[in-house]
Amino acid sequence: MKIAVLGTGMVGRAITDRLSTLGHDVVIGTRDVEQTLARTEPDWLGNVPFAQWQQSHPAVRLVPFADAGVHGQVVVNATQGASSLAAIEATGAANLAGKVLLDTALPLDLSQGMPPTLTVANTDSLGEQIQRAVPEARVVKSLNTMLADVMVNPGHVPGRHNVFVAGDDADAKKTVTSLLREIGWPDDAILDLGGIRGARATEMYSSLLFTTSAALGTFDFNVAIVRK
Ligand code: NAP
Repeated sequence: MKIAVLGTGMVGRAITDRLSTLGHDVVIGTRDVEQTLARTEPDWLGNVPFAQWQQSHPAVRLVPFADAGVHGQVVVNATQGASSLAAIEATGAANLAGKVLLDTALPLDLSQGMPPTLTVANTDSLGEQIQRAVPEARVVKSLNTMLADVMVNPGHVPGRHNVFVAGDDADAKKTVTSLLREIGWPDDAILDLGGIRGARATEMYSSLLFTTSAALGTFDFNVAIVRK
């Protein structure tokens, strides 16, 4: 399948690496190809400059957001949450019309340090904002409740643990669920939270995610729902 991943950070790279290994035709979208390739310093999370990462992924093309939007039958949003609406606008509503838009972003506000707060919460969410911004796209929120390494390799954390999906379009959720299965998520680990409004819950979970991470000293964990 032709897939576009918007975002050159650790999530964009991890998802691109996994999906291209599975045989998908993946491009990565960025604001400015030349500027992104010219970076020589690690990013704020310590990831190597993009050009260095690309040397080990020569088949993956880095393209402007709009070209990525044209390429992808499925488009993955892995951009900084506070800038995701700008990235989606640059990708283009027309390029996203009718397409599945898998949103992995968290609307984090890091201006006051850790743990972050959210730029939108309670009565709205980034997932819903994106769906309103591109009403003809079919937004599915997923994978945003865990570290990138866990998103693309559930075995990174032992045992049975969960990934959530939320979105208004049932077929789009089927497409995302099938990609999650390909990645390695067992059927019974994928929990459908209903409409895109469920993005509020998974985005607000980030408060517990960051606080738990501070307590454990690692992000190498995930949430497991245990029921009677
Ligand atoms: P990130 O550093 O949060 O985002 C990097 C991407 O955001 C880059 O592609 C960058 O574009 C884009 N960006 C930054 N400012 C922008 C602006 N003003 N306009 C348009 N685009 C802009 O990378 P990440 O750590 O991979 O996270 C990606 C998303 O997943 C975030 O929303 C994050 O909260 C969420 N998330 C991350 C993790 C994780 O393990 N890191 C876990 C759960 C959820 P350029 O390519 O042009 O620089």
